Amino acid sequence: MNDISVPQLKMNDGNVIPALGFGTYKLNGSAGVETMVNALKAGYRLLDSAFKYENEGAVGEAIRRSEVPREKILVTSKVPGLRHSYREAYYSVEESLYRAGLDYYDFYLIHWPNPSQDLYVEAWQALIEARRKGLVRSIGCSNFLPEHMQRLIDETGVVPAVNQIELHPYFIQREQREWHDQHGIITQSWSPLGRDNSAMQEPSIKAIAENHAKSVAQVILRWHVQLGALPIPKATSPSRQKENISIFDFELSAGEMDTINSLDRPDGRRKDQHPAYYEEY
Ligand code: NAP
Repeated sequence: MNDISVPQLKMNDGNVIPALGFGTYKLNGSAGVETMVNALKAGYRLLDSAFKYENEGAVGEAIRRSEVPREKILVTSKVPGLRHSYREAYYSVEESLYRAGLDYYDFYLIHWPNPSQDLYVEAWQALIEARRKGLVRSIGCSNFLPEHMQRLIDETGVVPAVNQIELHPYFIQREQREWHDQHGIITQSWSPLGRDNSAMQEPSIKAIAENHAKSVAQVILRWHVQLGALPIPKATSPSRQKENISIFDFELSAGEMDTINSLDRPDGRRKDQHPAYYEEY
């Protein structure tokens, strides 16, 4: 087993989380299980899943097949938009546990706020109860704007431990991250490599990579970590998995960070999925 050790971050609820995780979107079935077993072998200890990915069963199977004990792995799932009422959100936690064959999740997040439904506070109350019952260790949200999180806080007094948002070199979310920092909320970066956009082809990032004798993916993931954000890259091959986790032995200079920050674009989202109007069910 690989002994790459990822630093741990402390969260506002007292629990800890590794500074980098593994994305599992599109990792389904036996091939998905094998990919996740390899990721655990490479040293990843945070697996990011969701009710909607329809792979919670594969995640549970990968955990059972790996040599890593359950208590050393942190697993995330997320409430889908169709299940925001209190009852449905609570049942979605239970259903996720049944699907994965686990008796607790380390994280359960609300996947999207879906503001036109206006039920995310109910979903949050269900997650608070699921945590009280021990079904979940930490709770948070995903794709929430500050105004959505402020409502959670005002109406329940419970601050999310994490908010998972779109974040990559074309969309650096400066103000949103500052708001998280002011409230002690960990920023998790989804599509941290930009998935299929051209961030990986950027000449300025290639030059930085050459300077450090690292790959472009490593530089981008290191940039996330130095921003104070927690990337959850997905990679299928063991060699890319290993590459992506090997980012804790070098440091980008302030100038290199600025160079990457300057790639930010106002319309940098991959698919215009603005949480004020984009909704997922
Ligand atoms: P990503 O991690 O930015 O990019 C994944 C793509 O990059 C894959 O095509 C992968 O190829 C490739 N890749 C990975 N490592 C590479 C490397 N070292 N060199 C070259 N290419 C590399 O995109 P993502 O999967 O969209 O995002 C990561 C995770 O975020 C997801 O899996 C999911 O868990 C989460 N997510 C959450 C939300 C949300 O709404 N909360 C939305 C989107 C994603 P191969 O797979 O072929 O290796």
